[in-house]
Amino acid sequence: MPDCDPHKFSLVETGYVRTWRAEIDENTKTIHVSNDEFSEEGDEIVLACRSCDEKKAVPQGFTIVWP
Ligand SMILES: [Zn+2]
Repeated sequence: MPDCDPHKFSLVETGYVRTWRAEIDENTKTIHVSNDEFSEEGDEIVLACRSCDEKKAVPQGFTIVWP
């Protein structure tokens, strides 16, 4: 495991689901997809290091500034 100091944190939302409407064509063995839909909200937002497996919750009192 790499020793990283400081950790290279990314903000990660877990439990996020992406779904596509699908039509299965048995004759041509193809699956036609359309209309992707995202779940409204994931389970939680955590900080996860890209180098090691370190994860931590967003600290209390911190505000996430979205782009
Ligand atoms: Zn790390």
